[in-house]
Amino acid sequence: MNKKKTYRFSGGVHPPEEKLTRSLPIEEMPPPKKAYIPLSQHIGAPSSPVVEPGDKVNIGTRLSDPGGFVSAPVFSSISGKVVEIVDHPHTLGRSMPTVVIEAEGTDEWDKSIKPRTDYEALSPDEIKSIIQNAGIVGMGGATFPTHVKLSPPKEKPINAFIINGAECEPYLTADHRVMLEMPEKVVSGAMLIGKVLGVKKIYVGIENNKMDAVEAMRDVVKEDNVEIVPLKVRYPQGAEKQLIKTILNRDVPSGGLPMDVGVVVQNVGTAVAVHDAVALGRPLVERITTVTGPGIKNPKNLKIRIGTPISEVIDYCGGLSEDVGKVILGGPMMGLAQYDLSVSVIKGTSGILILTDEMLDTTAQGPCLRCGNCVTVCPMGLTPLMFGRYTELGMFNEAERNNVMDCIECGCCAYECPSHIPLVHYAKYAKAEIQAARRKRA
Ligand code: SF4
Ligand code: SF4
Repeated sequence: MNKKKTYRFSGGVHPPEEKLTRSLPIEEMPPPKKAYIPLSQHIGAPSSPVVEPGDKVNIGTRLSDPGGFVSAPVFSSISGKVVEIVDHPHTLGRSMPTVVIEAEGTDEWDKSIKPRTDYEALSPDEIKSIIQNAGIVGMGGATFPTHVKLSPPKEKPINAFIINGAECEPYLTADHRVMLEMPEKVVSGAMLIGKVLGVKKIYVGIENNKMDAVEAMRDVVKEDNVEIVPLKVRYPQGAEKQLIKTILNRDVPSGGLPMDVGVVVQNVGTAVAVHDAVALGRPLVERITTVTGPGIKNPKNLKIRIGTPISEVIDYCGGLSEDVGKVILGGPMMGLAQYDLSVSVIKGTSGILILTDEMLDTTAQGPCLRCGNCVTVCPMGLTPLMFGRYTELGMFNEAERNNVMDCIECGCCAYECPSHIPLVHYAKYAKAEIQAARRKRA
């Protein structure tokens, strides 16, 4: 087999690996007694409910319709009765409309859900419509509705498709286990997506700290147009623009999208969800999540029903240690700290990471030393010290002129800053202010 030449993206860091759960097989967590299923679990317009309190539902019963093209429906993950639709704490830090379902003993799939024996004969449009109706969104954490990525405008033809199995965040191993334990589903999902896009070539990028996954995937690939590409370990290798640079040596332009250089990227978990939707007829009702960190008693890789409260997942893993400092959804570099453990697992919950007190950096922010570390490590070629300072001063136009909108919030700059300046926080804050000002002008 020819070894594909890879390229190097600029910047990046090497955080310590800490993949505590790498050799733990995926375990299926029992369904929750009460599921809290937010109507918004994706980027785009929230979905609108099609059930009301008192309705009986089963696994896979549709709970909502999408609120527009960039939107996705949600489905029940348990059998039971809808008890209320209320504002409930959401992983994004505010309350959002949520369908609450109480389990009623049985655990059955909705009668409408049936496997398809003829799915290989489906047309690209039929596959795309199944993906859209199954509520599939990017499961690496970005939660962009998948059917939208698979609908590029005519003037932006796609000629390459990348499956993202890099999993570069320290601690997370869910994608690693998916590739080891269900490589056939990943390849089947990839082929279905490739058919929708009409591409000749499919690449699967995997960091070379997971050579067992590289081998497992290579073992099941029969097709000549699918290539498994081992990648050097360097964070943020799994970010779309960096992955495209490494595998195809194409540069996504400032403010642009992968489709601007003829590429679509999808996560391995998304490929599995596509397989399950098309071949098994199942909408997205569960996901594989890594529960890990020194603050949890029994770290695990779990298959969890969407809507399961984080507190229940933590209890299932033996509970928190005495000296818990922070609970983060996602990895340590890009994840979001949580203040309320009643939030539930949603489509984008790739990890639940529990850090201890002593791991938290409580050093006070110092002055900028002009050391340039943040510039050297920024994979987007930005000058974080500049937009950081402008944001601190409330000068958002200047932050925008310093390209803060191109920041992918990877955290490399803050990780390397000797003065502990919260550069990612400044980037997020400036981006939110700039977007609000744009909306006002529109
Ligand atoms: S400025 Fe943004 S893209 Fe650059 S290192 Fe910092 S977080 Fe990453
Ligand atoms: S890394 Fe921190 S101290 Fe160094 S230039 Fe950037 S913001 Fe300033």
